[in-house]
Amino acid sequence: MTSAALEVRSVVKTYQSGAGTVNAVDGVSFELRRGEFVALVGPSGSGKTTMLAMLAALLRPTAGSITIDGQELGAMSQRQRARFRRRKIGFTFQANNLVSYLTALENVELMLRLNGEFDAKNRKRARELLVLLGLEERLNVLPRQLSGGQQQRVAIARSLINQPTLVLADEPTASLDSERAFQVVETLAELVHEQNRAGIMVTHDLRLVKYTDRIIHMLDGHVERVVKPDDDLTCLADPDACRLISMDVLGVEQGRTDHE
Ligand code: ADP
Ligand code: MG
Repeated sequence: MTSAALEVRSVVKTYQSGAGTVNAVDGVSFELRRGEFVALVGPSGSGKTTMLAMLAALLRPTAGSITIDGQELGAMSQRQRARFRRRKIGFTFQANNLVSYLTALENVELMLRLNGEFDAKNRKRARELLVLLGLEERLNVLPRQLSGGQQQRVAIARSLINQPTLVLADEPTASLDSERAFQVVETLAELVHEQNRAGIMVTHDLRLVKYTDRIIHMLDGHVERVVKPDDDLTCLADPDACRLISMDVLGVEQGRTDHE
């Protein structure tokens, strides 16, 4: 057994399209420990969503391996993978598809029902999680009565309720104003740290990376660099400028992965 919550080894995802093949993810490797919260950043089209979908066991890599809690996804049957996903992986994607005829609380409780863990103790946890995310007053209303930001927070509670090893969030703050965005990401970071989960958040907003432990910068399907929130983040905001500098001044080949 390994101590890493997540191990990603040389993962490739190739799409076939009319225009030919696209290497959406092109040889990505990294590890994540429990209690670590990481940001995945990079320009549109760099492969972030594809990477996250593979980590969520929703999409199979063309090559490479993904191991969560010591279990390799590629070695599982479809059925095993579905069960594993329900128990070990929590995710919120850009379109947070809440069930429209269930209340906020019922949407979170639904995940407990699906896992056969709908008991008094867990129902109390569902309520507490929503309160922690600032939804105390909105527990019993339907999604359409919630703002986009509130819906996003219900989706985050839903992703955490089954106590997953791995928590994945694709742009969790896309529909939030900036004050709420800070609060939600700060809470998400606290929950990942306190509950000892491994968290990955895709974001465009570099102001939010201060709540993370590490930043993985993707470019054209590969890991361009890995930095800490305290490092100089200029290259994340303007990768092209940094490429020019290293080519001119250092004369080095581009695309090297800056692993820790
Ligand atoms: P990001 O989330 O960083 O914007 P994506 O993972 O969505 O990046 O996309 C990475 C690349 O893969 C892009 O070039 C995109 O056009 C391509 N891509 C994504 N999904 C598909 C698909 N289903 N079929 C073909 N190409 C795709
Ligand atoms: Mg995306």
